[in-house]
Amino acid sequence: MKAKTKPAMEVPYFDLTAQYELLRAEITAAIDDVCGKAAFILGEQVEQFEHGFAEYCGVKHCVALNSGTSALHLALLAAGIGAGDEVITTSDTFIATAEAIHYTGATPVFVDIHPSTANIDPAQIEKAITPRTRAIIPVHLYGRPVDLDAIAEIAHRRRLTLIEDACQAHGARYHGKRVGGFGQSAAFSFYPGKNLGAYGEGGALTTNDDEIAKLARSLRSHGETSRYQHAYIGYNYRMDGFQGAVLNVKLEHLDEWTAKRQEYAALYRQLLADAPVDLPEDAPDVDCVYHLFVVYVNQRDKVRSELADRGVQTAVHYPKPVHLQGAFQHLGYHPGSLPHAERACERVLSMPIFPEMSREQVEYAARALVEVTK
Ligand SMILES: *Cc1c(COP(=O)(O)O)cnc(C)c1O
Repeated sequence: MKAKTKPAMEVPYFDLTAQYELLRAEITAAIDDVCGKAAFILGEQVEQFEHGFAEYCGVKHCVALNSGTSALHLALLAAGIGAGDEVITTSDTFIATAEAIHYTGATPVFVDIHPSTANIDPAQIEKAITPRTRAIIPVHLYGRPVDLDAIAEIAHRRRLTLIEDACQAHGARYHGKRVGGFGQSAAFSFYPGKNLGAYGEGGALTTNDDEIAKLARSLRSHGETSRYQHAYIGYNYRMDGFQGAVLNVKLEHLDEWTAKRQEYAALYRQLLADAPVDLPEDAPDVDCVYHLFVVYVNQRDKVRSELADRGVQTAVHYPKPVHLQGAFQHLGYHPGSLPHAERACERVLSMPIFPEMSREQVEYAARALVEVTK
């Protein structure tokens, strides 16, 4: 065996420390403001963020929550989804999408992806609709908006509620309009690693519907309608003041960070043009915000370890589709149920992409991938 030599460059998969160095003064001031006002739960900073993020998404309301999972849960509850209902979603997603459906007592119904985009295939949605179907939750996977025209048309014609899982897609545009307002409501996550990340857990529900916003506000705070008046059994899903403070600072930078991600994605695409890797397609007039830059390769695990030898750290999103997870075994899916999602999970590889990495690191990572796949 050849002795391992030190790689010419190190490319971490992800690193938030450089970003903190840039924002340190602003963030410490914002956190100090929360402490000075003892506004630890909700409060001024959170309200300011709700207004700022609603405006950013081009929607009427933003309800700040403690996670993206809570946002999905409340979106479903506010739509009246519960036991006996079916909700259609994709299997190529983070498990939270399906968990939120299960929390309401409804059953997730998984539909296959379109292999060219890794997003839910609208043509398959129609076939999965039964008399019990009440809603569709498409996921803008990796920051790439789904085919919203096609899905909204199905939802409208079949009278189903459309809820966007926009947890990976802050600021992504479909036909020029930002996601978050295409359905009855949308869920965003501010998990630290997301494009807009808090310094802890965070999430939001966005909607243009006054009643949905009102209900979500009540449900996030124990079903309270006024002080100690509880019209519903709710939850403790409120956002912390610190998270609102951090998000207010970071929201100002989101567009510049997204532009960097898009620049690096374009560079990867250019450098990988002749490599034996498959890349998800960006449809015209759909603006992906590249939460992740994924490629599809044969012998993925071997490619990963050879990249690691060259100093390039990678990740896998996701190694197993949700319909084959042990948690959803009771639904009776089996290998072969959703072939495109299963094949995607076998071949998918996430390359490093974050605004603070250098152009040289992207070039190095892309060249390393070309080398190890040729
Ligand atoms: C991150 C994520 C969630 C869950 O968000 P949390 O804030 O971690 O609860 C849901 N769906 C998708 C697609 C996600 O990426």
